Amino acid sequence: MTRRIPAIEIAATGIHTRSFTGLYRTLRIAFAGALFVLFFGTAWLDWNGRQAVLWDVAKSKFHIFGATFWPQDFILLSALLIICAFGLFAITVYAGRVWCGYSCPQSIWTWLFMWCEKVTEGDRNQRIKLAAAPWSLNKLARRTLKHSLWLAIGVLTGLTFVGYFTPIRPLAHELLTLQLGGVALFWVLFFTAATYINAGWLREAVCLHMCPYARFQSVMFDKDTLAVAYDPRRGESRGPRRKGSDPRAQGLGDCIDCTLCVQVCPTGIDIRDGLQMACIGCAACIDACDKVMDKMGYPRGLIGYKSEHSLQGGTPHWLRPRLLGYAAALLLMIGALVAALQMRPMVSLDVIKDRGLFRENAQGQIENIYLLKIINKTAQPQRYHLRLLDAEGFELHGATEFSIPAGEMSEMPVSVALLAERPASSSQALAFEIRDSDQPAVRSVAHSRFVAPLNR
Ligand code: SF4
Ligand code: SF4
Repeated sequence: MTRRIPAIEIAATGIHTRSFTGLYRTLRIAFAGALFVLFFGTAWLDWNGRQAVLWDVAKSKFHIFGATFWPQDFILLSALLIICAFGLFAITVYAGRVWCGYSCPQSIWTWLFMWCEKVTEGDRNQRIKLAAAPWSLNKLARRTLKHSLWLAIGVLTGLTFVGYFTPIRPLAHELLTLQLGGVALFWVLFFTAATYINAGWLREAVCLHMCPYARFQSVMFDKDTLAVAYDPRRGESRGPRRKGSDPRAQGLGDCIDCTLCVQVCPTGIDIRDGLQMACIGCAACIDACDKVMDKMGYPRGLIGYKSEHSLQGGTPHWLRPRLLGYAAALLLMIGALVAALQMRPMVSLDVIKDRGLFRENAQGQIENIYLLKIINKTAQPQRYHLRLLDAEGFELHGATEFSIPAGEMSEMPVSVALLAERPASSSQALAFEIRDSDQPAVRSVAHSRFVAPLNR
């Protein structure tokens, strides 16, 4: 039988989570592994000779696998974030805090740090003893190794995170050769410290006191939302008993009060006290209790994913209006975003008129100067043709055929001369058109004005 750890012992030494195995732990490791590969791996991927995912802060553009998004497109990124938030709401209505338990970076990095703790300081009982023991060479060595591992993960996390905003290869090279300085060094150190403190020291305190989602997620719950819960109708009265004895004859339920579900809980709560804000839905207690039920020969599921309805003996309602409403709205938003992405113009043109109103050129014509900003949003270099639309009496001076590299912006000064002797008005509308020379359907039009004196 597992040794009971008195509550006072836990309080004196902090939360020392017992390690465990089981279906939900395997699921969580699979999710965490996929997210680690995604986070640490994607930063090093190249695409068409450029970092595949890079938010180029200096040039205000975002590259993702060959597509380049400019500030004009950031409305699409905002829409994507709104869809993600809405998706999270829908999942929460259905299955409670599965995001917190399986995918939240705070939880995943905390599990990784806890694994380092286990490797360097031993299992739960060894850690409790070590925490209570006076300082010795052994304690110093183990603690140093643990904090070194935590810091190494912190640096790797900080470097990778900053590497999504500034090219990671030169960043890593400069960090390793101690040449990194300035803003980049500040942010690498900032995210290293944030990882080390959040996952190493604060842990469940972040979920309890800092996470806004933990505060408002309960309002999304309804009576059919699945959450990790203990079935008191089956478990109570709790109490120890001899294996093989009949609990009902002793007036007992299925809970043997072994406290394993409390010992494996990363937030240190007792799920048998009911649904609590501190529960991050990691399902560690389900794995632990299922093992106990197996040993005792009782059916699994004393702790499991249950709804309030099912705990009261009711039948769960899967197709409820709230959930269907969320799903329909989510599908609509995803459809709209896909359509917007497909209709996104792959070339953009901005025209900025020179601050000087007009001037007279060498031929005696009135001339206005413009600065054109043309963005090639495709993943290939493109050739473009520039012209004026419906501009009888005007002549465009400057390059009209040119190429722009993939995902780049080109700034081009041009001038427009007035051919007519006398303008009809002191200010006339002008339309510039940029057109892909190979795909004429890819075009963009920008409007400006031509200013001239009325009495020449
Ligand atoms: S692990 Fe299961 S049997 Fe043990 S105390 Fe928790 S609920 Fe009861
Ligand atoms: S009560 Fe269970 S599901 Fe909730 S945080 Fe603790 S171990 Fe995870």
